[in-house]
This record gives sequence, C-alpha cells and structure tokens, in this order.
Amino acid sequence: MVQVKKRNISSILNCIAQRGAMSRKDIADITGLTPAAVTLLCSELLEKGLLLELGIDMQSTGAGRKKVLVDINYDCYYIITINIESEDTFLSISNMRGQCLEQQTVITNLQVEPEIFLAQLADLCNEMRERQHQVAPKLAGVSVAVPGVVDREKGVSVRAYNVWNREVAVCDVLKDKLGLPVLLENNVNAFALAELLYGMGREYDNLLIIKWGPGVGSSIVIDNQLYEGRHGKAAELGHYIVERDGRLCGCGRRGCLETKVSYQALSREIPFAPGEFGDVYRRAAEEGREQVFEEAIDLFARVIVNSMTILAPNRVLLFGSLFRDTDIREKLIADCRKYDARYDGGRILYSALAEKENYIGSVAAFVREVL
Ligand SMILES: [Zn+2]
Repeated sequence: MVQVKKRNISSILNCIAQRGAMSRKDIADITGLTPAAVTLLCSELLEKGLLLELGIDMQSTGAGRKKVLVDINYDCYYIITINIESEDTFLSISNMRGQCLEQQTVITNLQVEPEIFLAQLADLCNEMRERQHQVAPKLAGVSVAVPGVVDREKGVSVRAYNVWNREVAVCDVLKDKLGLPVLLENNVNAFALAELLYGMGREYDNLLIIKWGPGVGSSIVIDNQLYEGRHGKAAELGHYIVERDGRLCGCGRRGCLETKVSYQALSREIPFAPGEFGDVYRRAAEEGREQVFEEAIDLFARVIVNSMTILAPNRVLLFGSLFRDTDIREKLIADCRKYDARYDGGRILYSALAEKENYIGSVAAFVREVL
C-alpha cells in the first residue's frame, strides 16, 4: 500500500516536473489516477510544502469550476552538489530547479588519499552551508557525481577513471562529516537525468548524451529511461577501439578513443590548460599543428556516427569543457556529416543545459529520488 502511494505521488510530481504547473483534473487525465486520489495526494504534498497553488488558470474557459493550478515548490528544498572530475571539483548549493545560490571550484587533490580529499570537500560544504543558511535553511541532502562506474546502492565509487584507482565509499565519508543524506551517481548519467527532467527529454524519448573533457563520457536514454546495461557499463563511447596496437587505456584495453582524444592524450601533444581547448586548437592551427586535433575530432565523429547507427536517437546532445568551444563543435558536426549527410546541427546539438553542467546533473539525480 505504501509502495502504491509512493508510486502515485511520484507520477504526480513527475507529471508536473515535465509539463509545468497544471490543474488537478489535468494531472488525473494524464496520470490515469482518479480525480479523488489526485486531490487527496495533492493536499498532502501542499501540506508538506512540496507543491504550491498558483491561483486560477485564466485560460480555462467554459462553464464549470475554474482550474486552480498547482506547481512543484522548487525552493522547498536545497541541495548541496559535488561534482568530482580529474582536474577540478565543483561545489554548489542549488534549489530543486537547479538555480544556484553559490558555486565553488577547487582543484581535485589527487596527492592525498580519497577519504582525506572528501573530508576537505565536506569542510568546504559546511562553510558554504553556513554562508547560505539564511536563504537555504532546509537542506535536503548532498548529491555527488563522479566519472566511471558507481555502485549507487552502496554509495561507492567503484572505478572513477583518472581520479581514483580503487573503490571509495564516497557516501559514508560525506554522511559522517555533513550529517545529511548523500547520494552518488555517475556524472554523465546524472546529466542525462537533468536532460530528462529539465531539457530535451521533455520533447524526445531517445537521446545519446556525450561529454568531452577531460575524458569522454556518454549516456543513453531509451524510451525516456536511462539505459545502463549490465553493471551500469553501457554507453562507454570513450572505450570504442579506434586504433590497432594503440596505447594502453585506463580501462585496461588498448587503442580506446580516450587514448586519442582525452585532455591528457591531447595535452601530451600540445600542452594546454583544461579550460583552454578552443584557444589551443586555434593556436595549433596557426602553427600548422592542427593535425593532432583534427585527427582526434575525426575519430570522435566516427564513433558518434557508428553509435547513432546502433541507437537511432532523436537527438545527440553534447556537453563538457572541450565541446564548449564553438569551432570544435562545428568541426565535429561537419565531420559527422562527412560520413552521413543527414547528421547535421539539427540532430547533433550542444546541450542547452551545458552552461550548468557542473551541478545540474547532481540536482536532477537528487530530485529524482525526492520525486
Ligand atoms: Zn578504454
């Protein structure tokens, strides 16, 4: 019974999250729940502060009662987000819509044991929490994103490529230090959840989401659901084999795409800071050394086109520090078109959420749990 109620509440909240404010009657029509059940559950959610009444829908016409719209109260809870990448770590406090009160970037400290670094992050979070206490007195929890394979149930980072080379009990360490519920998700899966909740997932059911920088990450949405495969290892686009007798990859295989296009691989050829990819591309071009980048982009384009052949997504969405540069994106899309003229800027797009990539995924991962 409790399960049924939880499921019904979740379908009401998801319905509003995807479509915006609506009347109880429309919620009942869309979810298939009875109007009486919707009214009852909405009253509970209003009491808890998770829903708001927005007054009367002026567009509702005809006889009968005017519709009162209800919407999710996105300020009901705030969330601390921690996004750990191989170069930098990003912290924030955001509401449930992904509106940020404060953001902070620190260098990912790989010189100390992971538990010590996590404890340092917890201290920074506590300071942020104190600074924002007036605005965000109600913190619902902490949402952490890391690259690579995660065990969501146990809250353990199993293998965060290029960050940690062993299992790390991320949630236990942070829970101890922060005294809040902590949730862990793979960084690209988290971003895909944001697309489902706030982005393209509201329009399309099938997406391929690709992150470039510092490594390559990807995520597949099929029929409006994240597709994770066995042990959550689906969509490892960075580990497509692209080279015979290639360099050994962090994953243990040889000749993976990552060994050719990751920040580490590219900076071996031309040294540059992670945030400067576009500039370095142009500089290399001026020096006649653009070949390294062009080869990398061409390999990447082949992997994308091949993946599209298998998955036939409605849209391919790009994000990540290396895709932030317009020239790089345009070159990549042009290369995809070289292989298949139909793969233009309409099918392969820079994500509208990319500006918020440092925290929006973690927010969505947490909101999904609450909803
Ligand atoms: Zn690999």
